[in-house]
Amino acid sequence: MSAPGATLPSFDLHRPTRLAEACRLLADHGPGAQVYAGGTELLLVLRSGLSDIEHVVDVKRLAGLTSIWRSGGAIRIGGAVAHAKVAAAAELAQIAPALAEAERRLGNVRVRSTGTLGGNLCFAEPHGDPATTLLAHDARVALESVRGARTLSLDEFLVAALETAREPDEILTHIEVPLRRFDGFAYVRHTYAERPTAGVAVLLDAVDGRTHDVRIAVGCIGPRPLRVPAGEQAAEGIPLDAGDDLLEAIGAETAAGLEPISDAYGPAGYKGRLTATLVARALRQACARAGTPGAPAPRPGSPGPG
Ligand SMILES: Cc1cc2nc3c(=O)[nH]c(=O)nc-3n(C[C@H](O)[C@H](O)[C@H](O)COP(=O)(O)OP(=O)(O)OC[C@H]3O[C@@H](n4cnc5c(N)ncnc54)[C@H](O)[C@@H]3O)c2cc1C
Repeated sequence: MSAPGATLPSFDLHRPTRLAEACRLLADHGPGAQVYAGGTELLLVLRSGLSDIEHVVDVKRLAGLTSIWRSGGAIRIGGAVAHAKVAAAAELAQIAPALAEAERRLGNVRVRSTGTLGGNLCFAEPHGDPATTLLAHDARVALESVRGARTLSLDEFLVAALETAREPDEILTHIEVPLRRFDGFAYVRHTYAERPTAGVAVLLDAVDGRTHDVRIAVGCIGPRPLRVPAGEQAAEGIPLDAGDDLLEAIGAETAAGLEPISDAYGPAGYKGRLTATLVARALRQACARAGTPGAPAPRPGSPGPG
């Protein structure tokens, strides 16, 4: 018998070309069947030898799951679109530049070209980037199964670490990002390993030199990313050229309401202080961008810093 990790266990690979067929396969094979998109997480699970997956349903051949399109007041990102394609989508970068920024920094070239945004959200590994920016955008996810289709807010979808509201027979068909453009945006993260220790997304508008409709989301420090209403209220209506003292106070207030957990990426106290710093930094960046009308959004596809 080979050691865990050495070889893949045997399973039946299904490669449907129609969504209805894929849904039927998941329904027929029950919990022993898993969706396969980029495989960057699933292959690790299979190699661990701890799963009892007997059927793997590849969704990359399904029409619509690998496209990005505009419809019904939103940009829709197919459930099997790779991170690199999300990062390079020009119209999406205009509406959701913080998402593009997060996608450009994610993992490494291999993960960005193979792994998908849908797989990232469905796996719900807490040390992820895109969900944090998508929460700030009030994004929604669309799910389909033989029982029908439904749409959930991302906040409803994300339940806990490695846990979502998706039923085992449901396929995430697309993610909806509302066509709501913000004057200022930022996504900042701190990482010393492959995945981030903390990530913060800020979106805001500028009205008469002050912030308006501020959105702050914090990810990686707990079981799932969260919006932080206390921080959003504290940052509402502040001058776009607010000084460091005010921004740092808002950062501290934002972090104070959160409950970081200690894990391999750092102890809880450290993550709390890190979050306060990143919130202040993200607010400074977003305010600066909002205060410079016409400031170019980051170039789609250009590499970002770690
Ligand atoms: C070295 C490394 C570094 C990484 N760094 C980062 C990082 O910095 N930031 C970050 O956010 N992430 C990071 N990741 C995670 C990476 O983003 C995810 O591995 C990838 O996006 C998962 O997508 P996938 O298509 O490979 O999913 P898969 O491995 O194919 O699937 C993952 C899970 O989601 C399910 N699933 C996939 N697609 C669907 C669907 N459409 N409908 C229903 N269920 C589905 C699968 O059944 C499986 O349970 C890293 C991963 C690695 C290996």
